[in-house]
Amino acid sequence: MGSAVPRRPGRRRMHWAAAIAVPVGVALSVASAALDEHRLRDHERVEVASELAIASSALPTRLDVQRGVALAATLVGPADAGTDPDAWAGRIQALDVQDRSVATRAVLWVAPGPAEDRATGAVPLDVEEQGGGSGAGAEVRQSASYGSSALLDGVGLDEVGRALAAARDSGEPRLSAPFWSGATGPGAAESAIAVPVYGEGADTPGTVDARRSALTGWTVVTFRLDSFLGESMRHLHPGVAVSVVDDELGVELAAFSTSGPVAEPGQRPADATAVDVTLLDRTWTLTGSSTRVAPWVSLPVLLAGLVITGLAALVLVVQADSERRAVATAEARTRDLRRRTRELETITSSTPDALARVSSDGRLLFANQALIDLVPLPADWPGRPVAELATHHTLLAAVADLAAQVTAGGSDGQLRVAAGDGPGDAPGDAPGDGSRDPSGAAVPAVTRTASVDVGPLFYELRAVPEGALDDGVESVLVAAREMTRRRDAERRLGHAAMHDPLTGLANRVLVRERAEWMLGTRGRGVAVLLLDLDRFKLVNDSYGHGLGDELLVLAAQRAESLTPRGGVAGRLGGDEFVIVVPDTSRARAEALARSVVEAFDEPFVLHEEEFTVGCSLGVVHSGDRAQNWDELLRLADVAMYRAKAAGGACFRWFEEGLGDTARQRLQLAADLRRAAGSDELGVAYQPEVDLRTGQTIAVEALMRWSTPTRGNVPPCEFIPVAEETGLIVGLGRWIMRDAVVAVAEHNRRCGGDVRMWVNVSARQLTGPDVAAGIVDLLTELDVPTRWLGIEVTESVLADDERVLPTLVALRDAGIGVAVDDFGTGYSSFARLRDYPVTLLKIDRAFVQGLADPSPEAAERAAHIVRAVVAVGRALGADVVAEGVEDVELLRHVRTLGCDLAQGYVFGRPGTLAGAMAADGQAGLAPGHEAPAGVR
Ligand code: C2E
Ligand code: CA
Ligand code: CA
Repeated sequence: MGSAVPRRPGRRRMHWAAAIAVPVGVALSVASAALDEHRLRDHERVEVASELAIASSALPTRLDVQRGVALAATLVGPADAGTDPDAWAGRIQALDVQDRSVATRAVLWVAPGPAEDRATGAVPLDVEEQGGGSGAGAEVRQSASYGSSALLDGVGLDEVGRALAAARDSGEPRLSAPFWSGATGPGAAESAIAVPVYGEGADTPGTVDARRSALTGWTVVTFRLDSFLGESMRHLHPGVAVSVVDDELGVELAAFSTSGPVAEPGQRPADATAVDVTLLDRTWTLTGSSTRVAPWVSLPVLLAGLVITGLAALVLVVQADSERRAVATAEARTRDLRRRTRELETITSSTPDALARVSSDGRLLFANQALIDLVPLPADWPGRPVAELATHHTLLAAVADLAAQVTAGGSDGQLRVAAGDGPGDAPGDAPGDGSRDPSGAAVPAVTRTASVDVGPLFYELRAVPEGALDDGVESVLVAAREMTRRRDAERRLGHAAMHDPLTGLANRVLVRERAEWMLGTRGRGVAVLLLDLDRFKLVNDSYGHGLGDELLVLAAQRAESLTPRGGVAGRLGGDEFVIVVPDTSRARAEALARSVVEAFDEPFVLHEEEFTVGCSLGVVHSGDRAQNWDELLRLADVAMYRAKAAGGACFRWFEEGLGDTARQRLQLAADLRRAAGSDELGVAYQPEVDLRTGQTIAVEALMRWSTPTRGNVPPCEFIPVAEETGLIVGLGRWIMRDAVVAVAEHNRRCGGDVRMWVNVSARQLTGPDVAAGIVDLLTELDVPTRWLGIEVTESVLADDERVLPTLVALRDAGIGVAVDDFGTGYSSFARLRDYPVTLLKIDRAFVQGLADPSPEAAERAAHIVRAVVAVGRALGADVVAEGVEDVELLRHVRTLGCDLAQGYVFGRPGTLAGAMAADGQAGLAPGHEAPAGVR
């Protein structure tokens, strides 16, 4: 600052300057404080909005879990419960819902009051003990319960009563208004989902009046709103508070904050951000606010500004005096320099470091004993050029080089960087930044360092200029210290601190470091692939940790081999891995994600056994939003859980605004349209084996699509697009003809009687004369109807009544009708009896649940499988277990009474010949593979 101020200013001019500087400084301080606060709030608002979006997107799915419990209550347990409270109690007990969700409080059956009261619409609710008689004036009584709920204490009767009425009149599940009770804890709210039941064997009647008179009761599930909401808020960022308000009542249901107490509703900042979530017919508003930006958050900025202003004024006033002192300081510095030179002299003789003093013209002025011991110097060394002596030793060469550099850069004071390019230097190894001294004292800015290997030893060199008074360099002192042990220790520590000890992959710390560096450089963006093994826990639990560890090592190798150059693969813990790739487009990231999923679908071979674990992958791209590493990882985690929720063995993008997704789907649809009729499309076949005889009695046809650019596109991606665009109609016609021709050819050649099952979408069944079209096709190909079956998902049956007549016609013609993915579509038990079903396919989630490591979960899955088998018996339909992956599961499903089984245990979908060859082996060849996409 001294040199920027004019020399010798008059005192008056200084005081004038101070008089102007003070008001200007104050004004600037106030303005920057205001700006700072504004910027902080803006930043917080964006963060809060993204928190809300993530939290609210999960709520409808969580509500589906509660609704699923209510619907499941209509499906399990003894058939024909009618209005008998005891039968319903049995069904609800069979549900065993305890672990479904921590929020679930009670599952109830509610029987309606006397028939004459149904006409009035209102449902006054009264609670009776299980199976108890009707209370005074009670119109409705609760007949079976599970868990405990405020409702059972008579709280919330009005709210739930209204939901019951609405559910009954609309024929749809309804969510009740919230109600409060001291019984569930202070201030905790509950809500209930009511599902109407209209008599077994009856459809939902078409009119309100008809619904009122046909009603046989309701299943009701009550759940705690604080835990229900809490599940979605668990991952809130610190510093964000969220309050959830029921719109209709205007009351707060719960409030969450991970840091600090939750503010009272009245005290929340006015600029809070809100998001509406519609759950069934109710709307909740999530209001998020930041707890970080306090009203006086920018006070420090303001104070700092004021203090600086004061100091500046002071400086101006005392400037005149400081001129005088400058001269005195210069003299003191000279004395100091002399003293330090003397000190160095003393140290040189005793230090183990090798020291050399080199003159500015490169001559060796001094070498201490340590250096002489280390480097063989000729007797006449004093005063000879170092460069000449340097030919004797790499260390001396480094000394000469450093000294030359320091001398050359001596007067500009710019060279703060460590040098690493001297002869014999270990490249990039130069430590320190040359501006600090180990003693903590300031050293001249031109200090340079280098490192050099002398045989097995490692030396670090520091060169310090010894200045003349005119700022020039008189000589350079170079100190060489042996640091071999420390370097080795650092290398070891550095590796251990940055790598996972089991797999040797980068650990969390290193991945973060690399990723942050990638994010800081420009390019097409950074892709993050978060990978979680689907069935690792199963292997680990059943084969032990030793084998589990070996499997993780193989998985790590696979992940690393898939990582493109420049990217990094890391293990974040457990069976969770991450791949981070710089300079990558979304398209490239997607292709990579696909190849990773495919690669992990291949089995790992350990001790001559094959383990197929599969993986779920979440993908994010830094171009999606401006993001830091933590944020990217969190979004990838959300995406990964979506992949898990979709059944695993697939990847999911973190869903961006609809724009991106819609564009991708349009592109997919365009590609699919082009592919139709080309050989990019194919059929894979998978056998269905009779568990009584071990014979393959049927085969399922599965569509395959493989393109040069996209690779193998999984059906779960392209079938929905084909359905949306209507392409499925043409594709469906093609696959049915192909499959029928193939099975007929096989049956005729081998004298077999195998049935071909073809998956059919809703859209293919709603047109006119669909059944006739299919029968005509069989006639045209001269194929008996018993060789064909069609599979319809349970949700299609549950959602669209128009398909029923078509299915009846098909069944009557002798064509098989299967309900696919049974157990996931929430068919009412009543409806089911109208379905013309010849085969029930138990969804593989339930089948695979049988092998769940938690005994309770496995028992629950067994309950469900038994229930479906019972339903199958009641309907006169066979039951097939899907997704049977190993012999263990095969044994399970056979014991539980399934008639047929299908799954990887008999082989992956492949050629028809391969599918027929699975016959009789009864799954004793796990991991048998046939190439996908083969006709
Ligand atoms: P899906 O009808 O439930 O088909 C069974 C799926 O489970 C197939 O997946 C099959 O490869 C897989 N799978 C078979 N055994 C096992 C096993 O042991 N473990 C596991 N984890 N999976 C097993 P894919 O081929 O990916 O098909 C997915 C879905 O796409 C099908 O589910 C079906 O809903 C649909 N889809 C496939 N082809 C067609 C088609 O031609 N038309 C229609 N409309 N949908 C189709
Ligand atoms: Ca199917
Ligand atoms: Ca299925």
